[in-house]
Amino acid sequence: MQSEIPTVKLKGSGDELPVIGFGAGTKWRIAKASGETKDQYIEELAQQVANAISAGFNHIDAAEAYKTHQEVGAGIKNSDTPRDKIFLTDKYTPWSWAWRKGTGPLESLTLSLEKMNLSYVDLYLLHVPNITPESAGIDLKEAWRQMEEILDRKMAKNIGVSNFDVESLEYIQKVGKYQPVVNQIEFNAYMQQQSPGILKYCRENDIVIEGYSPLAPLTKGRPGPLDDILPGIVNKYKKSELQILLRWVIQNGVVAVTTSGKQERLMESLDIFDFQLSDEDFKLITETGKGKLFRGFIGDRYDKFNDV
Ligand code: NDP
Repeated sequence: MQSEIPTVKLKGSGDELPVIGFGAGTKWRIAKASGETKDQYIEELAQQVANAISAGFNHIDAAEAYKTHQEVGAGIKNSDTPRDKIFLTDKYTPWSWAWRKGTGPLESLTLSLEKMNLSYVDLYLLHVPNITPESAGIDLKEAWRQMEEILDRKMAKNIGVSNFDVESLEYIQKVGKYQPVVNQIEFNAYMQQQSPGILKYCRENDIVIEGYSPLAPLTKGRPGPLDDILPGIVNKYKKSELQILLRWVIQNGVVAVTTSGKQERLMESLDIFDFQLSDEDFKLITETGKGKLFRGFIGDRYDKFNDV
């Protein structure tokens, strides 16, 4: 039996962000969409977005890189939930410059909204901090200026970043008029600190942390030390491994961004608000998880921290 999804309040707008979200990203981009060339509409994905919403997800995570805007828009439209009851996140993907020489976030979001047939997103993020004239046609300062314009024009109700380290957040703090309210980073028991001090910095600056790849210990991170302790915890709480890992992420004060193509797993993912891991079990997962480091994304920038 599912309970209501808790939310966290975003600074500035005071909007409520649901603590678990459905990602319209990785699986489709990698498994179905054949990389950068995806341009065909995938009905199955639109259906999957609608299914996620009917399962109870009211937080959807999209990005330019996933090339799934049409499906996200159609999925929302075909669902039985009104647009204003769904928290929709989208991201400016700077490497889109490589495929369409765009002029930055403002133009990217304009195109995304067109494709989704929507008038605003709840949250717009810079996908990565590596935004340079060489890689994106603009620098980070100009990208953030455009994000602020997006907020002023009410095309997004909130603005934030993804995969940012302390250094890049401090840079925004220095040059920005508005500050990011969210940092979406890789976070799971095998990746507890994407870059040094990032969780502490975000918490101290009231930046909500969203964690993608929360289930890596069950997927790409397997085998690993958690394999030995999860069966005992599963047995104790009568919850699945997936539920225990999502719960651990959320008990860290991190918003979990997950995904699944299977309806029963979507339902299972939302059935995590009627129990709590004890301090002892929470610590056991934390400490055991530190026995393996698995980084699935942004290695070019962050692999240098793997041994730190
Ligand atoms: P997860 O860690 O939640 O992994 C989801 C995958 O786990 C699904 O493909 C699912 O497969 C599989 N899975 C679930 N349970 C099990 C199990 N018991 N055994 C084996 N496999 C299982 O998240 P992702 O890494 O996929 O990312 C989620 C979202 O986060 C993306 O869609 C995207 O929106 C966002 N993201 C953001 C990034 C960024 O740079 N900002 C980078 C990466 C992701 P199945 O479909 O078969 O259930």
